[in-house]
Amino acid sequence: MDEFGIIARYFAPLAGEGAFGLTDDVALLPRRADYDLVVTTDAIVEGVDFFGFDPPDSIARKALRVNLSDLAAKGAEPVHYLLNLSLPHTVTPDWLAGFADGLAQDQKQYGVTLLGGDTGATDGPLSVSITAFGFVPKGKMIRRSGARVGDSVYVTGVVGDSGGGLAIFRREAHSLSDTGRDALIARYRVPEPPVSFAAALRDIAHASVDVSDGLIADLGHIASASGVRITVEGALVPLSAPLRALWGESALQRAVTAGDDYQIAFTASPGLSGPFTRIGQVVKGQGVSLGIGGQEIAISRPGYRHF
Ligand code: ADP
Ligand code: MG
Repeated sequence: MDEFGIIARYFAPLAGEGAFGLTDDVALLPRRADYDLVVTTDAIVEGVDFFGFDPPDSIARKALRVNLSDLAAKGAEPVHYLLNLSLPHTVTPDWLAGFADGLAQDQKQYGVTLLGGDTGATDGPLSVSITAFGFVPKGKMIRRSGARVGDSVYVTGVVGDSGGGLAIFRREAHSLSDTGRDALIARYRVPEPPVSFAAALRDIAHASVDVSDGLIADLGHIASASGVRITVEGALVPLSAPLRALWGESALQRAVTAGDDYQIAFTASPGLSGPFTRIGQVVKGQGVSLGIGGQEIAISRPGYRHF
């Protein structure tokens, strides 16, 4: 199996409009009148963002979805992606078939196609880097910088499940049922970014960010980009039942600083309802605070940091 065999066999079937079946040096990026093209890139690396023993289809889906999460947070609809692979020499046809199958399933689910990429071998860890492209109606992309004093702060989904899954892999003691354990592990392996919510988000959000490093850290990006302070009310933060069971008393503090949620945190007018939960408000000042029953909780490490 050489590089070109791998491309032709596993990736060419995933190629879409503009990709020439992955048989040329380049691809053409289709345009859409009256839309802005939004681009993002994110890599996941074995031992950092996933485990080498994770199923290949889930590794593929995580790599793609962490990118779709960024696009969704900006109100963009995903269309294409590029795939850069550093494959260990030990990779097998079965593994590649599973990996391509994961991509195929997500392509169908999210309506995206493969535009091209690069394939190389490495003695180091497996790394999957994806660059994703999406469209947003001209001028409608949601920035981090639009939060206004008086806004409410909302988050989609639940917070911290992925961090709980990772803790279980790290052999943290627990007494969860198999179902609860599997639910948390599933979120660590395959995030579920609210891609279909992007269009509605565009109409309501003043500022938005995808929650990848940790809720408090990512809200911090909105706060600094917007020149405001964000206060989060701990009692309002949505936590799943298995996560509460796993982490007990410390569930809230750990959840809001765990990474890998790939949900969307945004600010908008108060009083909205939808597939999201109100967790706090935008006030004058700077930074992010977490309060529980009127008491402010100190946060030493607001989120994941690579360095
Ligand atoms: P070049 O030598 O010009 O870099 P390659 O031989 O690397 O071209 O790639 C040939 C074609 O296959 C190109 O269209 C490239 O985009 C595509 N390709 C290579 N690797 C991948 C991959 N992992 N996923 C998708 N397309 C790929
Ligand atoms: Mg190349």
